[in-house]
Amino acid sequence: GYNHTNHVPNNTVTYRLRTYIDPHTYEDPNQAIHEFAKEIDVSCITIERVIGAGEFGEVCSGLLRLPGKREIPVAIKTLKAGYTEKQRRDFLGEASIMGQFEHPNIIHLKGVITKSKPVMIITEYMENGSLDTFLKKNDGQFTVIQLVGMLRGIASGMRYLSEMGYVHRDLAARNILVNSNLVCKVSDFGLSRVLEDDPEAAYTTRGGKIPIRWTAPEAIAYRKFTSASDVWSYGIVMWEVMSYGERPYWEMSNQDVIKAVEENYRLPGPMDCPTALYHLMMDCWQKDRNSRPKFEEIVSLLDKLIRNPSSLKGLVNSSNRVSNLLVEHGSPEGCVFRSVEEWLEAIKMGRYTELFMESGYTSLEVVTQMTLE
Ligand code: AMP
Repeated sequence: GYNHTNHVPNNTVTYRLRTYIDPHTYEDPNQAIHEFAKEIDVSCITIERVIGAGEFGEVCSGLLRLPGKREIPVAIKTLKAGYTEKQRRDFLGEASIMGQFEHPNIIHLKGVITKSKPVMIITEYMENGSLDTFLKKNDGQFTVIQLVGMLRGIASGMRYLSEMGYVHRDLAARNILVNSNLVCKVSDFGLSRVLEDDPEAAYTTRGGKIPIRWTAPEAIAYRKFTSASDVWSYGIVMWEVMSYGERPYWEMSNQDVIKAVEENYRLPGPMDCPTALYHLMMDCWQKDRNSRPKFEEIVSLLDKLIRNPSSLKGLVNSSNRVSNLLVEHGSPEGCVFRSVEEWLEAIKMGRYTELFMESGYTSLEVVTQMTLE
């Protein structure tokens, strides 16, 4: 599709059909980049320090001073020397995509530097870095309302992308950036590129490269990537956020994750997670993709929960969590462990020991008698 601007008399509102254009539809990738990204003069940039590593080169923080504007902090992605034509195209492809988006929860492109070396992509600076690391560093430090606020932001960014007809395919906490006001923004745009770079993405038997733990079953099985598969990933992000950056499905292998999900097992509710949020995640993980909520509905539901905080008071109950763990990790019946503690440690759930004890699940005998209910 192409963008249409309707030229109409100036007493009438002008609409632009907002549809995302795949930069690959341009024969000349250099034309795409200059259609969607502003060329910045290298003299406007001051590089300060290295803040991360991307597949194509270093990511730095620095300052951008455009003529007649005040200096602003920016992130600078560089393309390291010795790149191939394809690498340059893929690197700038991200900017061609990002440059088409304008939304408070989507990382904002300031421009590109292509007329001098190294080639750079300049984006707004996100002080708190990527969401997964940020949550692990601040374990247990936020109120439920703050966490829901982050999730609301991500959902709003995703609603915008889905309206634009853009399917992200790699939505995960590691691909969300957080600024100093705790605003979360979706980042990491690309086509094949994104998945090739993501260390979480593994090759499937069919040759696709997919971040298994975050991906909907139909996308794993036959590459059916849609906004509905992004919704599945969004549910996993909800789980990551509510568990402060815990790894989804812990140390289970990708193969075991695929099998468990296929058999209808789902991640248990994180510690102290409001039931309303756990229900929403579970909804995002419906096998039938048409039954999953739309991002639009997710945003409205989260707004409702934020407006009525008492709706977040009910927490996922412990037996519910425990039963899920039992299902996923196998029953302790006839197992080699001598105590509940030892068993929980072995399945990396040691942090639940106290909870088990408090709830009266003090022996493996009692644990085995727990029903799914
Ligand atoms: P990426 O190649 O986009 O995954 O970036 C690599 C790392 O650089 C990320 O995990 C972040 O820690 C950091 N980073 C990337 N973009 C930004 C940004 N706009 N603001 C702050 N840090 C960033």
